[in-house]
Amino acid sequence: MLYDVIIVGGGPSGLSAGIYTSRARLKTLLIEKAGCGGQIAITDHLENYPGFEDGINGFDLSVKMEKQARTFGCEITYGEVVSIQTEEEIKKIILSDDKEYLTKTVVIASGANFKKLNVPGEKEFTGKGVSYCATCDGPFFREKEIAVIGGGDSALQEALYLTKFVKKVNLIHRRDAFRAAKILQEKVFKEPKINIIYDSVVEEISGTDTVERIKLKNVKNGNISALEVNGIFVFVGWLPNTGFLSNSKIKLNQNGYIITDDNMKTSVNGVFACGDVREKILRQVVTAAGDGATAAISAQHYLENNL
Ligand code: NAP
Repeated sequence: MLYDVIIVGGGPSGLSAGIYTSRARLKTLLIEKAGCGGQIAITDHLENYPGFEDGINGFDLSVKMEKQARTFGCEITYGEVVSIQTEEEIKKIILSDDKEYLTKTVVIASGANFKKLNVPGEKEFTGKGVSYCATCDGPFFREKEIAVIGGGDSALQEALYLTKFVKKVNLIHRRDAFRAAKILQEKVFKEPKINIIYDSVVEEISGTDTVERIKLKNVKNGNISALEVNGIFVFVGWLPNTGFLSNSKIKLNQNGYIITDDNMKTSVNGVFACGDVREKILRQVVTAAGDGATAAISAQHYLENNL
């Protein structure tokens, strides 16, 4: 079976690409590792995606996008892509179970994965108080005291969400100013359940069976303190999912993000990239969707002109 387009990743950019290529009647296969939706599938509330004036649950939005892609004929299969061979005009996509797919073009929409703190106790207590998903684990911490780590949009948004369940959120940031959007900062400053701890980093997570405390270091004066918490939610950024490209000629930047031009073309002919996996300034659902549409149209033009 030879596809016109294979899309790697089923987040908003991949699904958007699938909607566009399928509407263009290109034979399209989207390969997703776990479940469609990517990061938005674990986001409680999106309020900046146009068309939903009251906001929308991230999972619900991803289900709608997936249905829309399938409606136009986009095939979706599940599996982990471990490498892609792009030297020939017909490209080969190889999965961890040794399945192989052939395609004329590839759209990489593999997104990014959450970064870890890499401190003692983090690995040991993951799932026992350490979490990277407020929507998944927030309800387990009803009336408990927790810590949220980070100063970006994710940390502030999820800290606000967690106030629905917990008694107190200690929002711990390594600097004295947040990088999150001002509207989120205003909400956080007004929220009585959120206690902000600036200029501090987590040095250790400890407990008996589950998390009981974290050790904090003030980066300005070096003071060490202990904070009694039952849970710690880590939102310190993301790393691009580009490990499967290590044997390819697709150019990455020094942080591992795929370098593209404005039309989502990578350094390899017939290979396009879109969404959070590519080097860019703004990572939002709306920009991911826009990238996906552009990548799809670029793939279409490539097929019309190059093959
Ligand atoms: P981010 O913007 O990269 O922020 C990561 C935060 O974690 C920063 O405040 C950073 O501190 C801190 N940090 C990084 N490494 C750390 C470490 N080892 N220890 C302690 N703190 C550490 O990540 P994000 O908040 O997940 O957002 C990712 C992208 O998604 C952004 O483009 C964001 O705008 C977007 N997003 C948007 C929304 C929304 O629009 N509602 C929601 C979620 C995410 P410094 O500030 O000191 O670097």
